[in-house]
Amino acid sequence: MRKIIPYGRQWITDEDIQAVTDTLRSDWLTQGPVVEEFEQAFADYVGAKYAVAVSNGTTALHLCTEVLWVQEGTKVITTPITFAASANCVLYSGGDIDFADIDPETALIDIDYVRQMLEAAPMGTYSGIIPVNFAGYPVNLEKLHELANEYGLWMIEDACHSPGGYFVDSQGDEVRCGNGQYADLSIFSFHPVKHIACGEGGMITTNNPHLYEKLRLLRTHGITKNAEQLTQTPGKWYYEMQELGYNYRITDMQCALGLSQLKRAHEGVERRREIAVKYDEAFYGQVRTLALEEGVGHAYHLYVIQVENRKELYDYLRSQGIYAQVHYIPVHTMPYYKKLGFREGMYPNAEQYYEQCLSLPMFPTLTDEEQDRVINHILEFVNEISKPTQVPQLMRA
Ligand SMILES: *Cc1c(COP(=O)(O)O)cnc(C)c1O
Repeated sequence: MRKIIPYGRQWITDEDIQAVTDTLRSDWLTQGPVVEEFEQAFADYVGAKYAVAVSNGTTALHLCTEVLWVQEGTKVITTPITFAASANCVLYSGGDIDFADIDPETALIDIDYVRQMLEAAPMGTYSGIIPVNFAGYPVNLEKLHELANEYGLWMIEDACHSPGGYFVDSQGDEVRCGNGQYADLSIFSFHPVKHIACGEGGMITTNNPHLYEKLRLLRTHGITKNAEQLTQTPGKWYYEMQELGYNYRITDMQCALGLSQLKRAHEGVERRREIAVKYDEAFYGQVRTLALEEGVGHAYHLYVIQVENRKELYDYLRSQGIYAQVHYIPVHTMPYYKKLGFREGMYPNAEQYYEQCLSLPMFPTLTDEEQDRVINHILEFVNEISKPTQVPQLMRA
């Protein structure tokens, strides 16, 4: 049997395994020195001042909405083309979510659409915005920040798809995803299909020292032992619960894996870009791909093509052992979100995109032979198997 090619896959080396077993022999399985080491190394990698490691990307998002005071009556904007967690976090904190449609060229949140939403609503209606660097394409946060500032919105950058990515700002500088220059907070996930695997894991980066302290407190029950923060100091045993926090901690074992993976993060992104270039060249003029602005440092969590008969292509690839995937079913069309009042037809660009999108295998250990197999099957499908415009109407019925 031929080896199945998934759309994404972790990349584990002997060094990674050694790093994890080392923590198992150490004094700490959780809350030891490796968590801070990983935080420091990750902050350096993305160019942010502070990083807080947590149990996964979703808890990272939830802590962000908590420290930004999302509560009943708080309205926040995100994109429908994302993983549900980008919207759910606002609901966890008791707020309301609203969506802005996507730009059909890039599948990213459409900044002009956001502007129209803000202009149409009474001032103060919206409190924040959660842009998502979908597929690894960094949103231009400089432009979005300008708009957000005009309307007093905070910004959480969902950078789960884009560690190692950057956009170029109006000064010509590369702005790395998660560097804290324009977003108040940025979040990452270390689920195995993402760039860096911890098994489960997440990270929040920021340049804001107050948010940083609050995040650390809420990550572990709102409890502190820090003498400077205590209201009294009766003895060494003493600690205080100062906020209603959570147990959103990550373990040393997971951080050891993350830290070891981080050493290869740059290499991984470079390989992803190489794979993307090869897809781009193979598909040029034959298969529709997402647009990419000049100078943008795409991190390629996903490589997306768009075809009219997506289901047929999906099934065909699957029959050939190639497990492509669909990212994403628009969040507002989920049964739960429909209960909140959203419905089909509300965001036509997102819905149209969903009808045609397909994520192809994209991960650093994808071999040239495997990629050739993927490319050949797709070209075979679009040029030979599926010619919908040439099929007589009668036969299609
Ligand atoms: C994966 C992902 C999340 C959630 O991360 P988990 O670690 O799975 O909780 C949030 N947003 C986006 C865009 C993601 O891709």
